[in-house]
Amino acid sequence: MGEKRSAIRRRRRRRASIERGDARGGAASLFCGFRRASQKNNKDPPPTKISNPRRSDVSPNSAPEPLEHPTFPRIYSGSQAKLIPSSSPWCSSCLFLGCYGRSGTLIGLLILEKMVFWEGYVSDDVMGTFAPIVVYWLYAGFYQLLPRLDRYRLHTKKEEEQKNLVMLSTVVKGVLLQQLVQATVAQVLFLVTAQASLLGVPVQPSIPVQILQVFMAMLVMDTWQYFVHRYMHHNKFLYRHIHSQHHRLVVPYAVGALYNHPLEGLLLDTFGGAMSFLITGMTPRTAVFFFCFAVIKTIDDHCGLWLPGNIFHMFFQNNTAYHDIHHQLQGSKYNYSQPFFSVWDRMLGTYMPYSLVTRRQGGLEVRPLKD
Ligand SMILES: [Zn+2]
Ligand SMILES: [Zn+2]
Repeated sequence: MGEKRSAIRRRRRRRASIERGDARGGAASLFCGFRRASQKNNKDPPPTKISNPRRSDVSPNSAPEPLEHPTFPRIYSGSQAKLIPSSSPWCSSCLFLGCYGRSGTLIGLLILEKMVFWEGYVSDDVMGTFAPIVVYWLYAGFYQLLPRLDRYRLHTKKEEEQKNLVMLSTVVKGVLLQQLVQATVAQVLFLVTAQASLLGVPVQPSIPVQILQVFMAMLVMDTWQYFVHRYMHHNKFLYRHIHSQHHRLVVPYAVGALYNHPLEGLLLDTFGGAMSFLITGMTPRTAVFFFCFAVIKTIDDHCGLWLPGNIFHMFFQNNTAYHDIHHQLQGSKYNYSQPFFSVWDRMLGTYMPYSLVTRRQGGLEVRPLKD
């Protein structure tokens, strides 16, 4: 008799628990105020597959089941080819906000790695083409708008005016021309690789894989640029007619980072970027980050300032001072490596060590340590 009563009590407790919604991971579900229809029947919901609604190759049948979320509907609905491999009923934004459940951490990572702010507004291809250009003018513009900061300059303002062989307006026009070529090649590249893809919808690799791809791309770009750059110094015709244009800026500044002959821009930077993209097999989304990073690094190497706390000066031996040596007459046969590492210079005997000294009249100077 007693056993029967306790069994009835257990059943009532279970029912009440289910009605409260905390039968399976329900605490987080209730906390986030989010429920889906299948939960009402207390059944495991099927894995939720979310397809990119912008793509024409997604059939209406495979469209994600509409979900109610009071606060962050776009984060959920706009993502590309996401598979949540769990019976968890929680949405991505709940996971993002920390409402983790059984496999919440894993799912949260899977979603975070695919979430970018331009999702649903512009494609990765468009971002990969135009973001590096926008980033260029923003970052170089920032340096351009800074006050003189004489204490941190590697050359005085007077030296800049006396030694440089080209005006700022010419430099700006030259950079714009290079970016036009760059944007055209990038669009063609993304178009060709998208057509070659059988799936049509690129699946983003995991974050560690993307980091590895970016690192590999840095090595590919460095290798390409070292040998082409060095050859352009070695071959008198190429130097005189093409590469010398970049060296008209004996005292480099940020806006002039991509001031090159159009052919050099195409060969060194644009082809270098395309090779890094193709060899590493990165997606256009990863390429957005890589291209923007490469642009920022190149600008920083030409900024002419040794500002305290500059993160690139801390983590890269190939930095503003290192590249400044190459722009000087006595250092032009050294420090060809760009834009990330100094490994090729060190391996092939073109590395120029230097010391950074304070000038008597203020500011800094990069002194080569070899004749
Ligand atoms: Zn050079
Ligand atoms: Zn340079």
